[in-house]
Amino acid sequence: MKKLFAVFCFSLLLAVILSGHKSYAASASPSLYLDGTKLNPPQPSTIVNGTTFVPVRTISESLGYTVGWNGTDRSISIVSDSRSLLLRLGSAKAVIAGKTLAMPSKPLIVNNRSLLPLRFIAEQFGLQVSWDAKKNAVLLVKAPAAPVVVEPAPVPVETEKNVIQSVLPSSDSSFILAYDGDVSYSSFYLQNPDRIVIDMPNAAFANGFNGSVNADDPATFSGTIPVNGPLVKQIRYSLYDEKTSTTRFVLDLNGAATLSAAQKKELGQIVFNVKEGTAPQPTTPAPSKKFKVVIDAGHGGSDPGAISVTGKAEKTFTLAVAKKVQALLAKESGIEVLMTRTGDTYPTLNDRTNLANNTGADVFVSIHANIGPSSANGTEVYYLQNNSKTLANIMHDNIQKMVGFNDRGVKTANYHVIRESDMPSVLLEMGFLSNPSDEKKLYTDSVQQKMAEAIALSIKQFLKLA
Ligand SMILES: [Zn+2]
Repeated sequence: MKKLFAVFCFSLLLAVILSGHKSYAASASPSLYLDGTKLNPPQPSTIVNGTTFVPVRTISESLGYTVGWNGTDRSISIVSDSRSLLLRLGSAKAVIAGKTLAMPSKPLIVNNRSLLPLRFIAEQFGLQVSWDAKKNAVLLVKAPAAPVVVEPAPVPVETEKNVIQSVLPSSDSSFILAYDGDVSYSSFYLQNPDRIVIDMPNAAFANGFNGSVNADDPATFSGTIPVNGPLVKQIRYSLYDEKTSTTRFVLDLNGAATLSAAQKKELGQIVFNVKEGTAPQPTTPAPSKKFKVVIDAGHGGSDPGAISVTGKAEKTFTLAVAKKVQALLAKESGIEVLMTRTGDTYPTLNDRTNLANNTGADVFVSIHANIGPSSANGTEVYYLQNNSKTLANIMHDNIQKMVGFNDRGVKTANYHVIRESDMPSVLLEMGFLSNPSDEKKLYTDSVQQKMAEAIALSIKQFLKLA
C-alpha cells in the first residue's frame, strides 16, 4: 500500500513537472500593468522558475527610471528621484539607499540580454506587486507615499567612521553617492587636465562598495567608474589619506566644469551635478589646496655619502637630482616643494623628517646612490610603512620606464628617513657609484634630468595631479 502510494505520488510529481514545462513555454511573456494601465514594453518579459524577469529597457522606458551600465564590473544602476539601486549580473547582492540586500533571484543574461527580477526592483522603488494568473499579468501599483517616520537620532559614536556604500552615475553629468552615517565633503577644481576632486574625511568604503563581491580589505579600496559622458569621462576613487580616513573621488573631465551638490540626509545620499563652465572668479583669492612635497638630497656638508669609483661624492649627485626635481615641481600650481637642503650643508636625519612632519607634508622623497661590489648595479626603491607602498610602486615603474637601469625592485628597509616620516615616503638608490657603468651615467646631466622627470611624474601621479 505504501509502495503504491509512493508510485502514485511520483507520477503526480512527474505530471506536475511536465505540465509545468508546458505551461512555462506557453506563458513565456506575461503582460505588465502599471496602476491599471497595460504597459507596452519594448521587449518581452520572461518567467523563469516562477519569477518574472524584465529586460533593462522595460525598467527605463516603461517604468521611467534612469538605468546605467558599468561594463567593467558588470553592474547595473537604477536611479529614481529618491532612490538608487545597484545590481550586478550574476550576483544576488543589491545595494539600495546605501544598504546591501540579498535578492531572491540574480539578474540573468539570456541571449545576450540582461534580465532583471521585476518584483524585487519594483518593490524597492515603492511599487506594490501582485500576480494575476487569469490575465497572465504582473500588476504594479504605485503605493501612496508612506508617512515619514522620524526615529530618534542614534547617539553618535565619535570614533565610528561613516561608510560610503555606492557611487552610481545617474546620468552622464550627475551621480549619486549613498552613505551610512553623516558624511561631509569638500571639493575643488583643478586644471591640466581638467578635474574635480571631492574629499570626504572620516569616511571609509563599505565592504561590497558598488556591489563589489570580493571582500578585499576596504581600507585599500580604489578603482574607476567609467562614465564616458561629454563632460565627465570617469570617476576615480581611493582611500586618499589613511590618517584622517579621507576618501577621495576624482572626476576626470573633458573641459572646465563646476560641481553642485544636494545632500539628502534622510536618504543617506548626496546628488552631485557637474555643469560645463568655470566658476565665477572670487573677488578675493581663494585658498587653493597645495600638496607639500619634501625632496631630500641625501648626505651633504660634512657627510659626503659614498665615494664613487672615480672619487666623486654621493652628496653632489643627490643634490643635483634633487634640484632638478625641485625645478620640475615648481611649475605645478598644486604643489609646494620643500627642500631639506639646497646647498652643501648637512641637516641631521631628524632635521629632515622633522621638516616633513612639522609642515604636514604629503610626500617625502629621499634621493641617494648606492655602493657595493663593483659588479652590482641598478636602481632600488625603498619604503617601510604601509602608507608608502603605492608611492614606491609608482616610483619604481616610472624610473624603470624612463631611466632604465638594472631593475633591483621595490624593497623595504628600516632607514631613518622613511621610518620617522609620517607621510608616504620613499628612499631611492638610483644606481651604484661603485659600478663604472652606473657611475658614469649618474653624473651625466641628461640622465639626471630623466631621473628627476621620473621622480616628479611619480609624485604627481601619486597625488592624482597627473
Ligand atoms: Zn646615501
